[in-house]
Amino acid sequence: MGLFDLPGKLSVDPRISSWLAELGTITDEPPGLTRTFLSPALERAKQLVAGWMHDAGLRVHEDQAGNLIGRLDCGNAAAGTLACGSHLDSVRNAGNFDGPMGVVAGILAAERVRASGAVLPCHLEIVAFADEEGVRFQTTYLGSRYYVDHLGEAERAFADAAGITVGAAIAAHVPNFPPPPARHLIGYVEAHIEQGPILEAEGLALGVVTAIAGQTRARILVAGKAGHAGTTPMGMRRDALTGAAECVLLVENMARRVDGLVATVGQLEMSTPASNVISGGVQFTIDIRHAENATRQRFSRELFAEIEKRLHARDLEVRIEIPLAAPAAKCAPKLCGQLAEIVERHQVRCPRLVSGAGHDAVALAEVTDVTMLFVRCRDGLSHHPDEFASAEDIALAVDVLAEFLTGFSSAAHG
Ligand SMILES: [Zn+2]
Repeated sequence: MGLFDLPGKLSVDPRISSWLAELGTITDEPPGLTRTFLSPALERAKQLVAGWMHDAGLRVHEDQAGNLIGRLDCGNAAAGTLACGSHLDSVRNAGNFDGPMGVVAGILAAERVRASGAVLPCHLEIVAFADEEGVRFQTTYLGSRYYVDHLGEAERAFADAAGITVGAAIAAHVPNFPPPPARHLIGYVEAHIEQGPILEAEGLALGVVTAIAGQTRARILVAGKAGHAGTTPMGMRRDALTGAAECVLLVENMARRVDGLVATVGQLEMSTPASNVISGGVQFTIDIRHAENATRQRFSRELFAEIEKRLHARDLEVRIEIPLAAPAAKCAPKLCGQLAEIVERHQVRCPRLVSGAGHDAVALAEVTDVTMLFVRCRDGLSHHPDEFASAEDIALAVDVLAEFLTGFSSAAHG
């Protein structure tokens, strides 16, 4: 008997790999994987997923925003609804796991719950959200935000590159399945690849997410004075680039002193780059994330003040714009505790992680208790065709989700 004949291997459901591979071929822009909100590829992916939901014994619904919902009704119309899901849309040239992994795991877990004959105290909805990445409208969580509150006027007014607004796109969408019944959400659980290196480094398949980091995105505009690289003495320069360079290192140095905080300069542009011209203008971005809003806000204030001080000392002008300040989402300690307890039955211990990336759980957290299960991914890689999580790790996540969904009771978290 060779390594690959070990009994443990036999318990990995072959549908995990085959479903994810099949979904990975459904794209708007071949040869890579790209699926955006209400696109033809997203519609095809939903048809496929709807078939799997149906085969798993779930009643399939679709809302006006294109969220696909597989529902296991508990028979009590007054009961609350526990939701479990992730997203089917992707970034451009994406991998097969970010989003679809949580949808596939949710369906397989629900199938297990149904087959067990367990009597649930609530309805169960496995949701494949139609938009998390926000590629089409340059926003985030359109699908899950519609699922929880049907979107506000401001969000409906966002337009895509063709000038079509969110509101018009949703109005024009023709659902293939009946709308879901009205629901009262009592919890949400999402399985997702970690998109980071921690679980792999610790040699563990699963971890529980305690919070999803809030983020501040700033744009720093630095104005100096363009000048001739040969004729302007070093002491008479107002070089915007050297000022910006000092700030880039400042961001790194200050961020390293705050536990759990990450800050990144990901974009830097010179207004008129030329090899023989002193830089007259530079703009760069700063992305700041932390699980605690107060920590992130205090760090941002101190960083921006220091940036202004340093640039003024160089006789440079500075303007700081904040296009995005999204608060952190806390996962519910009780749900996280229940989930971690189950994980600990399957592996030696359960790491508690903060998600540095945003997730549909952020939108759900506005209306209900949420928790997330992270699955180890290779090299911490995501938003890339080489993104990978093993079928064995995902199978373990299905086991944990199935136990969580079966054991869930509203009393346990109320
Ligand atoms: Zn995702």
